[in-house]
Amino acid sequence: MKKFSIEQQDKDLIGTSAFIRYHLFFDRAPQHILRVEMEIDKITHETITLVMPAWMPGSYKIREMVAHQGNVVITTNDGKLLQWHWTSKNRIEVQLYGATSIRLSYTYFANERGVRTSHVNRFHAYLMPVACLMYAEGREDEIHHLYFHHNRTNWKTLTSSLSPVKSNFEEDEPIILGALNYDIVADSPIDIGNHSVRKFDVFGKKHELAIMGNQDVDIEWLANEVKRIVEVECAFWGDLPYDRYIFMLLVGEGQRGGLEHARCNVSAVEPSAFSDKATAQGMLTLLVHEYFHTWNIKRIRPNELGPFDYSKENYSRMLWLAEGVTSYYDDYLTYRCGFLSKDEYLQTISQQHLARLERVPGRFAMSVRDSSYLAWVKLYSLSPDMNNRFPSYYLKGGIIAMMLDLYIIAQSNGTKRLEDGMKMLWELYKTRPEHGVTEEEVITAIEFATGIKVRSILFDWLDGTTELPYNEIFAPFGLTWGVKKEVQDTDTFGDGRFFASKNKSVFIGLSLKEEQGKVLVREVEDGTPAEVAGLGIDDEILCVNTKRVSSVNSFQQLISAVGAGNTALITALCDGTLYETTVIPKEVVNKSLMYVQDISNDQRRLLNFWLSLM
Ligand SMILES: [Zn+2]
Repeated sequence: MKKFSIEQQDKDLIGTSAFIRYHLFFDRAPQHILRVEMEIDKITHETITLVMPAWMPGSYKIREMVAHQGNVVITTNDGKLLQWHWTSKNRIEVQLYGATSIRLSYTYFANERGVRTSHVNRFHAYLMPVACLMYAEGREDEIHHLYFHHNRTNWKTLTSSLSPVKSNFEEDEPIILGALNYDIVADSPIDIGNHSVRKFDVFGKKHELAIMGNQDVDIEWLANEVKRIVEVECAFWGDLPYDRYIFMLLVGEGQRGGLEHARCNVSAVEPSAFSDKATAQGMLTLLVHEYFHTWNIKRIRPNELGPFDYSKENYSRMLWLAEGVTSYYDDYLTYRCGFLSKDEYLQTISQQHLARLERVPGRFAMSVRDSSYLAWVKLYSLSPDMNNRFPSYYLKGGIIAMMLDLYIIAQSNGTKRLEDGMKMLWELYKTRPEHGVTEEEVITAIEFATGIKVRSILFDWLDGTTELPYNEIFAPFGLTWGVKKEVQDTDTFGDGRFFASKNKSVFIGLSLKEEQGKVLVREVEDGTPAEVAGLGIDDEILCVNTKRVSSVNSFQQLISAVGAGNTALITALCDGTLYETTVIPKEVVNKSLMYVQDISNDQRRLLNFWLSLM
């Protein structure tokens, strides 16, 4: 079996040479073209196979990255054309006829901006190697070098977790970065251009913050917050597993999401992420999340996720660990960093997690483990019907991780927590970094570290499709999840007529979108008045009670005016044909996480243990 390691320190590459070398040219950058020349020496077989990956670690979807490749030419290193042919859409077989080295050249159209795609233009190049650099099958474990042939007067800065092969490069020679194997090449995004970078040390390890995209960002402020994140996560795990680490932040319109790597992460946010407190908190939570993956998933990883095959799906039922546990700790550690107050943290659990899952009927249709296994065709193939069919292993997995933590704290009477289990998994990794973990090993580590039996309760939650027992788990902490008793809220004026000071919101279970002046149904939630009324995704809503619906807002106002329990006549179009139906709005039920009345000392003690800032 192929060896697997994503561990590399910069010192490992100094003075190395490589029999596999990528030369990267940017003379066609204005047309978004990257030119690649890949040289491979010491070929001992009659044929060699070159493969373009079909997915990337951390993003579980088959992607046609090879579609952007063109102008393939394969010669010997002295320019003699070789015979080759495609054996599948992303696989090339080359006949050597006695030659021992080849040169493969191709173009790659890099015009997709995001954390997982390459983007080249006259001002910069962001390269995602796994999406544009082929690998030589059977040679993945060798040292690979990348030569960057860009004009260093125009593009002054190069940021990457790949390691320089010498300490200084002359002005007229390309910068050469290296990786101990192809897995590390694949895992190391590169940005070249004139982006801003801040460098700082934390606990003797080098860190960089790079801001990509031409947006004004207060990099000094952000570098300080990032330092705090590093300190808090280092305190969580016990040590920093690298010599150098880069936070790459892409700021741009329409940008979102993140992708974790062994020695860096790339996170993407809208420019508005810096405009108010809540969105800034969201951005910091994203950075906490991606950085947490440095340990959980890049190193502590499901067995199936390293080594793996880049050309096909690699199924895992354990994304509840990789993404669920990380989703729980991203908010929790954001709180520990001091970016959220205690009340804001509880409010986040309440509204961003528990209340959101209430709006996912799919939690009754599929378990979290199955949702993880089918990520390749479910979570990553966004469908407007998805919330009805399965729960996200991020959302429900994160809630289960929180409940597991609370269960351990309560059962150990405030002496142990899930964190102890995670630390044990980290210790296990350090003894055998080439191995991933099985679910059995995860359970054993948690039970051993905490002394609490979690197997049956955890599998009930992970495999179950019934409602999670929130209040059983919250009770020892003096918390409860339920409907807030609303105080009657009315005003009078004029002749003493009563007015609700705010219109009571009503619920029918659909969401809408506006497209080309039309108001269209985006989602219909199963088991709601909208479903009963027979409204369907993509139907165009024309009128409510014969009043014209001109926008999503006007629909909401018209439905609110109908009031809960009353009947509204909806006029709509399906497939261009008019129909009428009636819908009976319900009163909105707002659940929230609340303190119980008369919280006991024991409850307060456990709550304080859970939310102690260490
Ligand atoms: Zn993640």
